[in-house]
Amino acid sequence: MEKSFESKLRQYARLVVSVGVNVQKGQPVMIACPVDCAYFARMLTEEAYKAGAKDVIISWRDDFCSRQHWLYADDSLFDAVYPWEADQRNTLGREGVAYIAISAQDPENLKGVDPERQRRYNIAAGRDLKEFYRLEMSNGFPWCVVSIPIPAWAKKVFPNASEEEAMAMLWDEIFNAVRIKEGGDAVAEWHEHCKRLEENAKKMTQYAFAELHYKNSAGTDLKVKMPDNHIWLAGGDDAKSGVRFVANMPTEEVFSAPLRTGVDGTLVATKPLVLNGNVVEGIKFTFKDGRIESIHADANEQTLKNEVGLDEGSHYLGEIALVPYDSPISLSGVLFFNTLFDENASCHFAFGEAYPACVEGGDDLSPEELLARGINAESNTHVDFMVGSRDLTITGVTKDGREIPVFVNGNFAI
Ligand code: ZN
Ligand code: ZN
Repeated sequence: MEKSFESKLRQYARLVVSVGVNVQKGQPVMIACPVDCAYFARMLTEEAYKAGAKDVIISWRDDFCSRQHWLYADDSLFDAVYPWEADQRNTLGREGVAYIAISAQDPENLKGVDPERQRRYNIAAGRDLKEFYRLEMSNGFPWCVVSIPIPAWAKKVFPNASEEEAMAMLWDEIFNAVRIKEGGDAVAEWHEHCKRLEENAKKMTQYAFAELHYKNSAGTDLKVKMPDNHIWLAGGDDAKSGVRFVANMPTEEVFSAPLRTGVDGTLVATKPLVLNGNVVEGIKFTFKDGRIESIHADANEQTLKNEVGLDEGSHYLGEIALVPYDSPISLSGVLFFNTLFDENASCHFAFGEAYPACVEGGDDLSPEELLARGINAESNTHVDFMVGSRDLTITGVTKDGREIPVFVNGNFAI
């Protein structure tokens, strides 16, 4: 490894361990990692033990092997998660694991796989890993999603470059996005960055908007009602243990949860969406009383329809997120084909389960109580899709009927 690269990589590993999941003494750590990224998992492991981890458990995966599994494994395997696998995840979740997920895959790795298998397995995983997912959504343990390049992904992002060039270019973009510079202090940068994001979130919460209107020339014309006592969040979250963590690196969003039954109109996506190993393009939804009424995609429509059709909750929005058009990742102009980056370059929504912390005291409420508070608390999926554009306007309507420009020409106006 080249020296300057190695020092940036070391900075990155420290950042993920100390700010991302914020590993505490005696805490178990789990790293979900592609085998191509083993060198980074090793560095993370070293840093996690230095921070006092009780144990570091690695969950390896591999694009090639998982593709073979989806294509050829016995059909009975797609209706249940192995009990020992479910037990491992759910137990670690209960123990308050620091969970690091490295997101790096060929965006089209599962092209041609039977979507019915994926649908069945997603239902099974939602059921068998429910405890783990629920703890994750309600900050029961600290977690952090980060990325490093792999060749198949880098080539999709930079198709005209050689593999080596594409890898170097994607590394540059990722280091920029996570604020790592040679000789810089990424940890201090991140504390500053989160503070700025949290200020915007606080402003949004103080307005206590009753409704937000979205409009742009791509065809979006949407009214989104907000639940009473909703909270806008950004930057870090507090885990149940009281430890502050950052769930996404990078993160540029200020987000909340819409009123489950309060979304009406048309929503047009402005970027492709990588979903279950396929690239879904040209997405358009219409909503009535919060429920998705029609679904269209120019490419891989069935993949999208299966995910929206997963359960009743997946027919409703669970997240509303604001990202300025002038945010650094957006300005890079790069289409990442990876939601972690593309969602942080664009205003977005997610269909499926809401984060409980988006309503006051939500982390301590049951799904039934959260539903009564008006947010979409019960679904086995959560899929972000991007709707931001240079000409997006978002107008907030306060409870006493005042109209406040929230976004003008794609950027914050408040
Ligand atoms: Zn988001
Ligand atoms: Zn999301």
